[in-house]
Amino acid sequence: MAKLPKQDELLDFSFDVPKTGWMHTPTEFKEGMYCYGTKPKNLEVVGMPNGHDWSPADEDWHLPEGWKDIVLNGMEDLMKKYRSFKLYMDVCVRCGACADKCHFYQGTGDPKNMPVVRAELLRSVYRRYFTTSGKLLGELVGARDLTEDVIKEWHYYFYQCTECRRCSVFCPYGIDQAEITLMGRELLNLLGLNTEWIAGPVANCYMKGNHVGLEPQTIMSNIEFLMEDLQDITGKAINPSFNRKGAEILFVVPSGDLYAEPGTYTFMGYMLLFEQLGLDYTLSTYASEGGNFGFFTANDMAKRLNAKMYAEAKRLGVKWILGGECGHMWRLVNQYMDTWNGPADFLEVPVSPITGTRFENAASTKMVHITEFTADLLYHDKIKVDPSRNDHLVVTYHDSCNTSRAMGLLEEPRYIINKVCNHFHEMPEETIREKTLCCGSGSGLNAGENMELRMRGGFPRANAVRHVRDKYGVNTLANICALDRASFPALMDYWVPGTKVMGVHELVGNALVLDGEGERTLDLRLEELPKKPAPASAGDAGATSDGEGGTDHV
Ligand code: SF4
Ligand code: SF4
Repeated sequence: MAKLPKQDELLDFSFDVPKTGWMHTPTEFKEGMYCYGTKPKNLEVVGMPNGHDWSPADEDWHLPEGWKDIVLNGMEDLMKKYRSFKLYMDVCVRCGACADKCHFYQGTGDPKNMPVVRAELLRSVYRRYFTTSGKLLGELVGARDLTEDVIKEWHYYFYQCTECRRCSVFCPYGIDQAEITLMGRELLNLLGLNTEWIAGPVANCYMKGNHVGLEPQTIMSNIEFLMEDLQDITGKAINPSFNRKGAEILFVVPSGDLYAEPGTYTFMGYMLLFEQLGLDYTLSTYASEGGNFGFFTANDMAKRLNAKMYAEAKRLGVKWILGGECGHMWRLVNQYMDTWNGPADFLEVPVSPITGTRFENAASTKMVHITEFTADLLYHDKIKVDPSRNDHLVVTYHDSCNTSRAMGLLEEPRYIINKVCNHFHEMPEETIREKTLCCGSGSGLNAGENMELRMRGGFPRANAVRHVRDKYGVNTLANICALDRASFPALMDYWVPGTKVMGVHELVGNALVLDGEGERTLDLRLEELPKKPAPASAGDAGATSDGEGGTDHV
């Protein structure tokens, strides 16, 4: 594994115009900037074609016989299947509005990380083989031949895009670069060229129901272990419900919350909340993954993995699904579920059994995000919280790309944080809400071998955290995405050391006052709580107003 450069070495690059045009600048595979290649067995498990041994660092990628026809036929198929693909190939006017909006461009200075150029990698081939002008005029109209070097370039740069869609917010035509990247990855998959960090979790999820391949008994024993900690903290014995037919609600979390810190603390927060409410819910040890690495592979793969949540809801006979703090699970549920696996007519429109709120926004998907559910509880004063238990934390909030841009979940997390914490500060406006900056590790890039890429891509977000640390003393980065909880600890350690990474429901769990509970002395990390709540300063009061004031459905 490549050694991670020091901060000043990493930032020692320029945005100068390169000497050669992008078409004539060869791709250099730099260690630390790419993920390892797929092992054939993980493609075979899910029936994906042309699995073979290869490495991005090799000169010869052992492409299958007829590889060029495979790709061009695949491109033609995609154009027939997805009107958006053809549209995105044709309508870009190269205005450049997106050019400097990508965190990978901001963190590398590499022109091929400008969204407009990243799309041109694919468009140039589309023009050459599928447009008359491209066939006749070639490079004059931005067309080029499909060669092995082009395939390598696609792999390098389509796995340097986190499909975060920030660039799309600024595009006057609404061109969705994440869709283009996904199509590029689909074409590479036809040649057996994925990354192991994505293909492995896809195979695990297909076989075992979650990305790391946790067996049902492992999931249950992990959770029992967490419940023992909760008993030490609160004095309450909590007995989660597993695979229970006839429960009202199926609760699905990203599997990272089941086994890896700091996600496990978020999970403990969910469990405390449900215990206090007496909620009629069940977890499934089979549909044990809300995340979906299939989406980082190909549309059909994502559709296959998404189906399990709904199949399990049907098997257990629940009324609706409550989902945990995950990012891309929600993009898929909100933007793709209906046409992939829907409509979920066998389920009911979700109604909170505690407040009676009917979640009309989930009338079709029948799936409610836990922050929608909890914000509604707080709005109706159905739970008692003591925000002073979080007084040792000065919190900022990272809008996960998928929940903010793909489902507009902007106010609910802020509303909750403002209720359960006394010290909350927003990062600069151009880095939050729809314009949020990516963690730099989404879409399956959170591997270990590409750490330089992750630190570069995450730099703009980390820089905004550093800003609020210096200005307000922020020491905690709250979020509602499992990939954020997995990737931010390394990013913070590198750029903003000392910053804790926390799911919003960890903050809720800390603050939640349970019926009959004595004074709590430990937080969910088993660390001492502050003895006396510190009074909020005047400066804090003025900085917390953004999330105040209700939501569409409450
Ligand atoms: S989707 Fe995100 S990572 Fe991809 S090009 Fe756009 S801004 Fe960059
Ligand atoms: S902003 Fe849209 S139209 Fe302009 S260059 Fe970028 S993708 Fe093309």
